[in-house]
Amino acid sequence: MDDRKFLLEAFLEAEQAKDEGTYPIGAVIVDSEGTIISRGRNRVFSSCDTTAHAEVDAIRRAGSSMVDIENKKFLKKNYTLYTTCEPCPMCSCTILLSFNIKRVVWAANDVEIGAMRKFKEGPHFLNRFNKISIEAAPFKDLEIRQRTMLAEWFIRRGYPDTSWQYNNEIV
Ligand SMILES: [Zn+2]
Repeated sequence: MDDRKFLLEAFLEAEQAKDEGTYPIGAVIVDSEGTIISRGRNRVFSSCDTTAHAEVDAIRRAGSSMVDIENKKFLKKNYTLYTTCEPCPMCSCTILLSFNIKRVVWAANDVEIGAMRKFKEGPHFLNRFNKISIEAAPFKDLEIRQRTMLAEWFIRRGYPDTSWQYNNEIV
């Protein structure tokens, strides 16, 4: 019953996106007490931003409901994300890396770009990645520079055993 109630809240955002002339997709994030902590909607064409999908928008707007600014840590809450359409690869990974969303409910499956079910099944998006060429860490000095910066960042936050510390095994 609550799932339906919160999906309808996501549809309020989808309707607004539709009125703004972009993809009619909306999302809300709900905490374990049943309080909506964030709302988002597609803004790809209304904000001229190809990354402004409803789920990403809702996660961005969740702000301090997801991170402890003072201690530079993720809160690791038990949130549910409701969206009107199955999350794409970008949104699925953004949900994963929010470290706060433990359940996702959507109103309509997306057979074309929907990714949540495919990610759980296997590497179905490899053909899309094959269209992008990559250069993985071509310059040793720049790799060390980035790894050192990240190692220092983790150590400052109280994680002494960081995997970013440079060692000779890096290839
Ligand atoms: Zn998306």
